[in-house]
Amino acid sequence: MKCTRCNRDVKEGDSYTHFGEILCEDCYLDMRLEVKACDPWAVHSATRLRESSGLAEAEGLTELQKTIYELVKNKGKVTRQEVMEIHSLSESEMLAQLAILRHCELIKGHKEGHNVYLVPFHQEGTEEGN
Ligand SMILES: [Zn+2]
Repeated sequence: MKCTRCNRDVKEGDSYTHFGEILCEDCYLDMRLEVKACDPWAVHSATRLRESSGLAEAEGLTELQKTIYELVKNKGKVTRQEVMEIHSLSESEMLAQLAILRHCELIKGHKEGHNVYLVPFHQEGTEEGN
């Protein structure tokens, strides 16, 4: 089958259906980002997938996703710009990675003043001494 957006050949197992369109993974992610950044259905399925395969927290992610997640977790908050610079990502690559991390409920956006930061989805309890 072919991706209805970019016409690339997609294997049946690698295809995604989005509102009746057959999409390859790249187009699917693009499309999802266009529609809205956060989608409860995606959160649900990503969480369930991780639960059913017995994966916890950062397991089940690609190395890049893990590194981005670790960065956010260790620093407490980072900007998208920092993620792009540190990992040498283009904006669309960065957004695709963030979408996955957000769908897995690992990171979320946090607005402070005029800036939006990426912070861990589940804030850990305050550690004494920090
Ligand atoms: Zn495509």
